[in-house]
Amino acid sequence: MQLDSKAQAIDWAPPLEGQDATAAVEWLLQFATRHQASDVHLHMDREGCRVQFRLDGVLTHVGTLPTEAAKLILGRVKYLAKLKTYVESLPQDGRIAADEVGLASDVRVSTYPTVTGEKLVLRLFYEEHQLALNQLGFPAGVNKALEHQLGIRAGMILLTGPAGSGKTTTIYALLQRLLEIDPCHVITVEDPVERVIPGIMQTEINLERGLTFAKALKHLLRQDPQVLVIGEIRDEETAAIALRAAMTGHLVIATLHAGSCRGVVERLNALSDDPNLVASQLRLILNQRLVRRLCADCSGKGCAPCFGSGLRGRVPFLEMLRLDEANQGAIETKRLARLEPDLSFEQSRDDLLGQALTTEAEINRHLQL
Ligand SMILES: [Zn+2]
Repeated sequence: MQLDSKAQAIDWAPPLEGQDATAAVEWLLQFATRHQASDVHLHMDREGCRVQFRLDGVLTHVGTLPTEAAKLILGRVKYLAKLKTYVESLPQDGRIAADEVGLASDVRVSTYPTVTGEKLVLRLFYEEHQLALNQLGFPAGVNKALEHQLGIRAGMILLTGPAGSGKTTTIYALLQRLLEIDPCHVITVEDPVERVIPGIMQTEINLERGLTFAKALKHLLRQDPQVLVIGEIRDEETAAIALRAAMTGHLVIATLHAGSCRGVVERLNALSDDPNLVASQLRLILNQRLVRRLCADCSGKGCAPCFGSGLRGRVPFLEMLRLDEANQGAIETKRLARLEPDLSFEQSRDDLLGQALTTEAEINRHLQL
């Protein structure tokens, strides 16, 4: 169902007559926005300019532009981004102001010379409203476990998953829910702050100035937090501070890079070198992916809005592990093979396929990550 590289999107119709690059660039950006593309790739090669959109995380070929028209269009994009239009042999970075092209947000532009000609990547931004916990598409059991943990206000919740899998959105939804249940002092250390949540104290690390997660946390613990959010636990020092904070009556919510719930435990054990402490403070692990959803307009057959892929929008694909007595025991006795997730990827896959929300191929693509 995927478009092959020579095919074109069904409604791909850039206005190219009259050599009006202004109209063509506006059309292209609005076409991309209408399809919620996160990036537009324009790559000059011998046959013209290949146009690809990143849609729901996947780079998708949408059409080609003839060489002469493409040169004018690329020149216009560079002009709008205040780049040197005559420079094609060096990389440049710029920004197009939203009102110049009739969009709601600015467009970030990056150019790079390749052996077949210039390559431009345009990053689009969307004003999306923050989803509430019960709008994330999690199964009821996962929401219930998360809410329960928020109510306890101690120990550690860890999220894992590849970049772009929705971890930050989940954390913000948890914080909003937390403030609804019981307003408390929440401090975050992020890299960077992606969305401002009213009512909490959000801070950013700054590696250039030496403000690492560990250094920021040492100071922030003196700011009397009840809940600490740590953008990422990536070193031993941060792991030690996070575990100590959890042990001393703070709820800690953090991400940690691993491929599975068990991988999170392995990594935290390695960073802290104290499985008993990990077993006593870790409460819940959520391993999150976003898989593309079957297109609601064509039920997977392929239509214009989904570029013929049959997939549009995304739905969470999850693994969740709670630290009940059995799982705590497995960590304390270093028998991690005995860890039993409350929701396994297999169960999550069966749920999604049972509700016809996605395809097996899409699930398998994510299981390989
Ligand atoms: Zn469709």
